[in-house]
Amino acid sequence: MLRKKSLLALLLSLCMVVGILPATVFAAGAGMPQNIRWAESPKSMVQWDAPSGGGQYQYELRLKLGETIIDGPDLTVQRYHLFNGSLMTEARENYTVEIRARSCIIVGEFPNEYVTSPGEWGDWATLEGSGGGEGPTPPHEHSFDGWKNNGTQHWKECSCGEKSEESPHNFGEWELIYYDVNTKYDVCERQCLTCGYEQIDRYREHQHYYTDDWSSGSTTHWKVCYYCKEVNQDTVANHTFGDWTETKPATTTEEGLKERTCSVCEYTQEETIPVHTHDVHDKAWKYDDTNHWQ
Ligand SMILES: [Zn+2]
Ligand SMILES: [Zn+2]
Ligand SMILES: [Zn+2]
Ligand SMILES: [Zn+2]
Ligand SMILES: [Zn+2]
Repeated sequence: MLRKKSLLALLLSLCMVVGILPATVFAAGAGMPQNIRWAESPKSMVQWDAPSGGGQYQYELRLKLGETIIDGPDLTVQRYHLFNGSLMTEARENYTVEIRARSCIIVGEFPNEYVTSPGEWGDWATLEGSGGGEGPTPPHEHSFDGWKNNGTQHWKECSCGEKSEESPHNFGEWELIYYDVNTKYDVCERQCLTCGYEQIDRYREHQHYYTDDWSSGSTTHWKVCYYCKEVNQDTVANHTFGDWTETKPATTTEEGLKERTCSVCEYTQEETIPVHTHDVHDKAWKYDDTNHWQ
């Protein structure tokens, strides 16, 4: 009797376990996003289907490479999501997409909707292959705003990672920023005429530069480089003086002064006029102690 009773109890508990088991399995699968797949284009877009059973859901996504989270977590109420394509440097098959869902009430319309009364997050669902699915391919028009660049080229890039107009920089002329007196090289800059990328070269062979200014000594004038101060030997020449101008006449007691100016460099040379002595005159001249006349 006792034996029969315990057997009955065992059967009863077994029935309960068997009865509960399918319900538990169903609960684990329920609430999980279905059929996660990569979109045909753009390459960083994933799509998925809602958990079975209807209702409104908010989704959380993350993109992993191995165990490292590359992008996300991102939240959405759509059933597609664009990961940051520029972070995806490898083939997308190498990445793992994980999405989980929670029931919620969505208020308002895309893109101004918001979520209230969120439930508990379900389990993470992972991407398994691609293709198929009930969801429509979401529209995506590439938008290529502004230039991106690196040291050698420029391009435009959509948020999905698609690149356009990729080409090498289109550099203008080198322009001097300054002459480095320590290295004796010109430090120059040039800009890409398309994207504005600035390239600097600190070791451009120095190009002499001359202004209108001349340097001068007592007999010659020359030009020096504005930056390195080196004398340009091709410009060294004797002054080209104009006529003497008497700036102070000599008297019989004091020396006078005269000057002349180089028409090229404007160097002015000054010389004294000796004290006047009347013995330079011939007999036609008359004179007294201070003056002479004819
Ligand atoms: Zn795009
Ligand atoms: Zn450029
Ligand atoms: Zn120079
Ligand atoms: Zn001169
Ligand atoms: Zn005289």
